[in-house]
Amino acid sequence: MTRNDVFYAKILLNGLVEVMRGRYIMDIRGLGAHMPIGKGFHVAPELVVDIGGNAFQIFPHSPRSWKGRIPTSGEAEKFNSAMSRFGIDYDNAFVHSGYLVNLAAPSDETYEKSINCMILEIEICAALGLKYLNVHPGSHRGEGEKFGIARIQKALDRILEETQHHNVMILLEIVAPKGGNLGYTIEQLSIMRNGCSHPERIGITFDTCHGFDAGYDITSEDGVKRLLDEIERYVGLENLKMIHLNDSKYPLGAGKDRHEFIGQGYIGDEGFATFFSFEEIRKIPWILETPGGIEEYRRDIQRVKEILKKIR
Ligand code: ZN
Ligand code: MN
Ligand code: MN
Repeated sequence: MTRNDVFYAKILLNGLVEVMRGRYIMDIRGLGAHMPIGKGFHVAPELVVDIGGNAFQIFPHSPRSWKGRIPTSGEAEKFNSAMSRFGIDYDNAFVHSGYLVNLAAPSDETYEKSINCMILEIEICAALGLKYLNVHPGSHRGEGEKFGIARIQKALDRILEETQHHNVMILLEIVAPKGGNLGYTIEQLSIMRNGCSHPERIGITFDTCHGFDAGYDITSEDGVKRLLDEIERYVGLENLKMIHLNDSKYPLGAGKDRHEFIGQGYIGDEGFATFFSFEEIRKIPWILETPGGIEEYRRDIQRVKEILKKIR
């Protein structure tokens, strides 16, 4: 080989590497963020595409209120046409339950309100044609885990019973172990799921910040393998429907639930690169719930893409 040959071979090789790197970006199922609904549900698809995403999550109503309203057929039509105009797959669109809902609440009043609120939220999902309602399972508020888990199972049964005519799946989100929160391990989520009469209508969400808070070290290959093994063993990988992609302001196992911008917390760019290197993870839509608003999300989506480019 002449010097020239080597020179051109290098250019060719570089080009191939770039193509391969590009392929990894195309290779992911979905990437997006939690979108505001103040101007209506129909703005979410356009907003998320504008910031470089193809997946989103929304609240079904003001998250600090018990009240919500089923969208009119006109509103639903507007939403559905935005979904197709901006090319969002319904498997990449999620609804997050309100903050007041606590399916483990010791107070009967809060418990009943929570059940009714989630029934309404499922009806809102169904009206919009959305398939997934994500919820934090709940907090026993000092009454103990056994009490709380039994309460959650009964609540899920009642909610699923009331909404059996709707094709909406409930996603139990892994939470940080603090304040009596239940569902901080995959096994715990599976106990809730298997304890009710329609487990096939219950999936799970893995939040990287909450999981890290609970001791799932996704910054190491062994840690990701352990996580995937647990998911497969307890609920089946096909029931992992969403990943909440958040960095963590606190170290592994801290149990603080403080989300950080991608790459700026204890998971870090390298940690996410390890996490993203697993095909099982790239098959699931990723939704950011990092601090700030639309512009911060735009920056974080870009950062995720940069991390993806570096994976070989
Ligand atoms: Zn959540
Ligand atoms: Mn989350
Ligand atoms: Mn959180």
